[in-house]
Amino acid sequence: MSKQIKVLVTGAGGFIGNHLVTYLKEQGYWVRGVDIKHPEFDDTQADEFELLDLRRWDNCLQATRGVEEVYALAADMGGMGFISYNHAQILHNNILINTHTLEAARVNGVKRYLYSSSACVYPEYLQEETEVTPLKEDDAYPAQPQDAYGWEKLVTERLCLRYREAYGIETHIVRFHNIFGPHGTWEGGREKVPAAFCRKAAVAKLTGNHEFEIWGDGKQTRSFCFIDDITYGIHKLMHSDHYEPLNMGQDRMISINGLADMVAEIAGIEIQKKHIAGPEGVRGRNSDNTKVKEVLDWEPKISLEEGMARTYAWIENNVKEKMTASKEAAQELAHSKVVK
Ligand code: NAD
Repeated sequence: MSKQIKVLVTGAGGFIGNHLVTYLKEQGYWVRGVDIKHPEFDDTQADEFELLDLRRWDNCLQATRGVEEVYALAADMGGMGFISYNHAQILHNNILINTHTLEAARVNGVKRYLYSSSACVYPEYLQEETEVTPLKEDDAYPAQPQDAYGWEKLVTERLCLRYREAYGIETHIVRFHNIFGPHGTWEGGREKVPAAFCRKAAVAKLTGNHEFEIWGDGKQTRSFCFIDDITYGIHKLMHSDHYEPLNMGQDRMISINGLADMVAEIAGIEIQKKHIAGPEGVRGRNSDNTKVKEVLDWEPKISLEEGMARTYAWIENNVKEKMTASKEAAQELAHSKVVK
């Protein structure tokens, strides 16, 4: 890169944000990271890292100063458990974060803006069977997302499209489908199913108690995409001339039971599945990648098996460390009943 381009990553203390900062540094960018917290599991590679609450307008102005590009990843979010029970908080906080960040970017003359939307925007009525038809970008309308989280994402997508039309800021919109990998939340209630399953399998392996709780009958289906495929994908999207929302995820569907079996095999243990009541989300969901292949020549390269093996290895180490650190921590993990 001849001139070092300055970029901002919001949510840089989070899972995708922290990985993206590392990727952008490797590509030669000057990077500012902003979040309300530092990355939990390793040091940030950002040139500058500011702790700012982006619900506040003045903080958004500060965050977006002097940069050419903004990767807007900050969000109050988590797995099914979190997004099923915190609708008001999610709507309130994310509406503030997104409207203020985008408007501040416009005021500060930011050229390119990438908004991280979600497969949660897709209507419930297209996701009622386990063997669902993969979701195409146009399927988002007529709108009927399942959760407040999806509604907020859909509204912010419209905001981005309208800002480009009205003010010329180049807004790009990516719809992630279940991104996973090492260095993400793996306990505490905000973790998603791949990390929660890796934790459960590691705890089962280390304690010898192989009971494995799953919310619902486990026949619900999803697709899961490894983080390294995503970082280069969104960088590509930011520099493309595609401005409509675009899916980014795996198009290989697996049941939640199937994912549990895969993790057990990686851990080298037998598990006894116990199906319990809990938030299950939609019955089935998969990504149609036709458009993303066409416009970005992008498709995931890392298989689910490989990605899960890498994620499991990292989480097993964390579980081991925590279990040896103190008796209380070991007890807490051994009795953790939360599996999403
Ligand atoms: P994450 O929770 O790890 O990261 C989000 C970050 O935003 C967190 O570090 C959090 O502290 C920060 N944040 C929350 N409130 C903030 C505030 N008021 N001010 C500043 N920072 C704040 O989540 P992630 O998995 O890295 O997701 C990144 C983006 O991608 C989010 O917008 C999310 O909605 C979207 N997304 C992720 C997935 C996925 O599977 N991971 C799927 C669909 C969409």
